[in-house]
This record gives sequence, C-alpha cells and structure tokens, in this order.
Amino acid sequence: MVAPIRDGKGSDIIGPRNIERENQGPDMVRPPSTDSGSLPPMKWSFSDSHVRIEEGGWARQTTIVELPTSVDLAGVNMRLEEGAIRELHWHKEAEWAYILEGSCRITVLDLEGGSYEDDISKGDIWYFPTGRPHSLQGIGKGGCEFLLIFDDGHFDENSTFLLTDWLARTPKEVVAKNFQLFPKLFDSLSEKEKYIFQGKVPNTNVPGIPHNASRSKYRFTHKLLAQSPMKVGGGEVRIVDTGNFPISSTVAAAHVIIEPGALRELHWHPNADEWSYFISGKARVTVFAGGGISRTFDYQAGDVGIVPRSMGHYVENVGSEPVEMLEVFRAPKFEDFSLAQWLGSSPPQMVIEHLNLKKNDALKFIESLQPIKDPIKKNSKL
Ligand code: MN
Ligand code: MN
Repeated sequence: MVAPIRDGKGSDIIGPRNIERENQGPDMVRPPSTDSGSLPPMKWSFSDSHVRIEEGGWARQTTIVELPTSVDLAGVNMRLEEGAIRELHWHKEAEWAYILEGSCRITVLDLEGGSYEDDISKGDIWYFPTGRPHSLQGIGKGGCEFLLIFDDGHFDENSTFLLTDWLARTPKEVVAKNFQLFPKLFDSLSEKEKYIFQGKVPNTNVPGIPHNASRSKYRFTHKLLAQSPMKVGGGEVRIVDTGNFPISSTVAAAHVIIEPGALRELHWHPNADEWSYFISGKARVTVFAGGGISRTFDYQAGDVGIVPRSMGHYVENVGSEPVEMLEVFRAPKFEDFSLAQWLGSSPPQMVIEHLNLKKNDALKFIESLQPIKDPIKKNSKL
C-alpha cells in the first residue's frame, strides 16, 4: 500500500482513504521529490463523468467543466449498439473521432451539397469541419464505441443542434410549408429530441444515402491504425494531421505505443496543448511548468491527461502491458521538440557546462547524443 513517506520524511495515512484510487496514482500519493509548487489538475477519468443513458447507447464527456485545464479541446466517449443512431445533427465545433471498438457508419454533407458516407472500424478516424450536418450509426455485431474530440473545451454534448429538437421547436404549419406538405403529416413528430435511439440495422452492402444525391469530393475519414508506423526503440508512433488527412485543419494527433519500461522522451509541443487519452497500460507523466514548478500524474485506460502548450513532459510506461495512447492537439500539424535532439544539436562544450558532469561522464554523454528525434526510448539499464 503506497504511503506519503519518502527519504525518511512524511508519515502513513491513518484517516479515511480511498485505497483503490490511491493505488491507481502512487506518484500522486507519494510524489517524486522533484515535484514542486502548485499546478492545477491535469487528470480526469471518464469513470467520473456523468453518463447519459439512452436507447441503444450512452455518452459521457470530459470538457472544461470536468477538467478546467481542458481548454483547447473537449472529449466525448460514446457507445452505439448495432443499429443505434446518434441522430442527424450539427454543432459550432469541428469534430474529430477515433473508433475504439467495433464499426460505425457515418454520413456528412459538405458545403457544396456533396454527400459522404463511409463504414469504418476500430483504429479509423473521422473529421467533420464546423457546422457540417452529420450522423453516426453502430453497425456490425456489437455496434461500436469511440472517442469524439471537439476543438473547444467549452463544447457540451448536450447542446448540439438536433434535427428532432429543431422540428419540435418550430410551428407545425411552418414545417409543413417548408416541405410543401399537409401539416397533419407531421402530427407524429417527436416532441423532444431523440439524440441517441435504436434504429433499424442498415444493409451495409448498399449505400444508405440516396442514389440521386451528389457525392462529396472530400475525404472525411482516415485509417489511422492501418498507417505503417514509425518504429522506434521502445514502441510505435503514427501521426495524423493535414499532411496525410487534409480536411482535419483544426485537429492533429499521434497514436503512440510505448513498450513496458520504455519512455516517450522528454519533449514539448510549441503549437498547442496536448489532450492525452489512455487506451491501455499504466503511465507516469511529469508536467514541467517552468518557474521551478512541476507535478507528476499517473494514468491508465479511460483517463484523460492535459499538458499545456510548451510545458516539458515525458510519458513513462510503468506497468507490465504496453501503453497505448492518443496525443491530440487543436492544430493543423503535429509539432514537438525533443530535448535529446536539441542538446545533440547544441555546442557540446556549452551542454557540458550546463550539466556539471565529471570529465569522463561528460564525454560519454556528449558522444551518446544524436541530433535526431527518438520519440520512444527503449527500456535500457546502462
Ligand atoms: Mn457531432
Ligand atoms: Mn507530448
């Protein structure tokens, strides 16, 4: 059992405690001695989010309300059974999504009136620019579950623009006039929004959108996990941004696998806050805020982490399973600076003078530095 005792200081906990929770965050109960100063929470678990339960599915969110440091982006974790529909809707924020399990049929309309439909599965992503009307439906045995990312931390999944809500809030005679039909035809309209509801399972062998609809010339989906990864010492990295998925102009991401004991190297992102989502494994992250301030957090599957723009950090796999995670950014491009690359590209004598290394160690260190990025260092016991 972890206790706040370190280097002969501190004491055990004799009052009330939540042991399950403390065991999930050993570095939060007993922070490393390098932690210092005040840093607001950079961790939230979807397990603590309110779950909106609906027919055929559910949704839970992590926004600036749940996690005040979630400023750039908000996240929604959603489940749709086979045939269940997240109804036709739109919103001010752009939407990026990663499918965690199962398969999903998406539809979206572009500004030129082009219609887009795709059936996608685990590891695939989609992106809908601001205001584009769209729908989601679970397909295949078991339906799907996915992570949605919105490019504003103030996003609220419960205040999107829904087809059924709109029609319920519009005089029936106006609805009838709009479709050039008799008002009586609309007597059966839902009196409130449907949001998520069970639909008929679609035949995925044929398109759902009408054959006379014009087809979009844009690509709204991308196979992220099918990308061949950048294989590095301690894991794999797959990056998706406007370089390989041009429509995603406000969200960039990296899918990262870190082997047990390996380290996503010390680095920072110059262009945006990082919104991390942990899919599996156990990870430790220290966020360095400058001014003598740093704080360490522990994460596991279902947790969200934040690293504000330009703050130094690492991700260490401290468990026995691989860490699988997404680093998501409100930016058109994935950008990071590597500490090791930076030092390997700086005047060696200057680097030595910063680090106070003894003569032989200094030479060894300088020889080991490379002016390249090595995003995940393997577990090396030198
Ligand atoms: Mn949406
Ligand atoms: Mn990072």
